[in-house]
Amino acid sequence: MLQAFARRKFLSGLAAGAVVLGFDPVRRSWVTEAHANGPLDGIPSLDGMLVTDNTSIQEAADDYGHIVHRSPRAVLRPGSIQDIVKIVKFARRHRLQVAMRGQGHSNYGQAQAFQGVVIDSRTLDTVHQIGGNRATVDAGVTWRTVIEQGAAVGITPPVLTDYQDLSVGGTLSVGGLGGATQHHGLQVDNVLELTVVTGEGDLVTCSPTRNSDLFEVVLAGLGQFAIIVRATIRMIPAPTQARVYNLYYDDIALYTKDQRRLLAEGRFGYLEGQVVPSASDTGWRFMIEAAAYYTPPSAPNDAALLAGLKDNPSERVISETTYTGWQFRIDPTVEFLKALGVWFFPHPWYSVFVPASKANEYVGNVLSTLTEADTGQGPILFYPIATSKIGASLYPLPNEPVAFAFNLLRTAPPDDPATVAAMVADNRRLYEKLVCAGGTRYSIGSIPFSRHDWQQHFGRRWGLLTRSKRHYDPDNVLTPGQGIFT
Ligand SMILES: Cc1cc2nc3c(=O)[nH]c(=O)nc-3n(C[C@H](O)[C@H](O)[C@H](O)COP(=O)(O)OP(=O)(O)OC[C@H]3O[C@@H](n4cnc5c(N)ncnc54)[C@H](O)[C@@H]3O)c2cc1C
Repeated sequence: MLQAFARRKFLSGLAAGAVVLGFDPVRRSWVTEAHANGPLDGIPSLDGMLVTDNTSIQEAADDYGHIVHRSPRAVLRPGSIQDIVKIVKFARRHRLQVAMRGQGHSNYGQAQAFQGVVIDSRTLDTVHQIGGNRATVDAGVTWRTVIEQGAAVGITPPVLTDYQDLSVGGTLSVGGLGGATQHHGLQVDNVLELTVVTGEGDLVTCSPTRNSDLFEVVLAGLGQFAIIVRATIRMIPAPTQARVYNLYYDDIALYTKDQRRLLAEGRFGYLEGQVVPSASDTGWRFMIEAAAYYTPPSAPNDAALLAGLKDNPSERVISETTYTGWQFRIDPTVEFLKALGVWFFPHPWYSVFVPASKANEYVGNVLSTLTEADTGQGPILFYPIATSKIGASLYPLPNEPVAFAFNLLRTAPPDDPATVAAMVADNRRLYEKLVCAGGTRYSIGSIPFSRHDWQQHFGRRWGLLTRSKRHYDPDNVLTPGQGIFT
């Protein structure tokens, strides 16, 4: 009786009233009670649910990009870590591929698994401990939750992305870059311990001192070796205030020079920057976006922070907000875009790193022909990072001390596949020029990539990648949407 109840709970939606008992390895399809006369491998008993309803399948076959759509056979909403262990083993047995999906905010099918099983990490959302110098959270917890619960006890993650409704597991699988990267590296450089399920279905705890080989490759490992189910992340004391400085430049060379100076001197707690439309007909201009974090009674010294910069002082904008308000700064824009529907349009993002020595030339060339129509008025990010701050092994960067993050956060009109295709093709064209300039990509974006491209991308790290894949995911079960081993 219990078992029958459990099965109904585990897998629902194949057809009204149909209860799925297992997987037919010969026909490679789910087996319902009505057709349970052939070979059958029963679904393991789960604490959560394995569902096959259309809504769940369609959601798992989509992401923030709305460009690539690959339907899985089922979606697991895990009720426990053990559910993930069981489903990975089950999938491996049946040569089904598995991908964990966080908030689905990558934009080119990276979290999808064609005819496989997508694990929706949103049900794995417990904050286990937060305080002192660390937080231990499930992979599906969002950074928003970590910030809010951290603020309540006066601590914060050292590095935050620009948008906080991303899952901890999702950004730790790709990197996690932000305005504090200049000081603290990526989010993956601030992880103390992980609990993961490997491609063989083994539940393993890893850290810099325990199973360190696995720890090294899981961080920014694009989900290729293991699924992150829990993470302990470093936390630091949280300031209460942020003073924000927007400095404007018409000249790219002056802009990058001042950006590099600020990076080298580490004057600000947060340092990013953007290419913004120019009011005149010159096309584009540049904006340093920097923030000094503080807790009163101490306060930033504006004169010292801005000394020697070549921006136009009459156009500087200085504003005040709370530290938490700053981390949630794009919330009003997101709400506005959601209200307009634009948030749900296709997003063929181009997200790369340019070596500092080539930044003026490469970015200048891109901008010389770029119009607002080419980005759909999406923002263009352009700011420096010190490559030495980034320790992650599987995060290739230009081979220079400084690289510029360059992101065309494109938005395409809905129902216009031709424009989407043109933007994706343009990403590829720009990427090929970037490689010649010694640049690298960030995996989150929309650039068509072959296995050869991945090999070139990882360069000397390709051996580590393939060895680790053979070791931890020998049957190539995990995360096919990245397209590295498919
Ligand atoms: C509005 C917006 C702003 C952004 N800003 C930034 C930014 O400032 N800095 C930055 O670095 N990035 C930024 N990103 C990109 C973002 O970090 C990545 O897209 C990230 O992967 C999103 O997290 P997610 O939870 O949505 O992951 P998903 O898109 O769901 O997954 C990403 C990849 O990781 C895998 N994965 C997910 N969870 C796990 C897990 N627990 N274990 C193993 N593999 C897993 C997936 O299979 C997939 O391959 C932004 C994205 C958006 C949409």
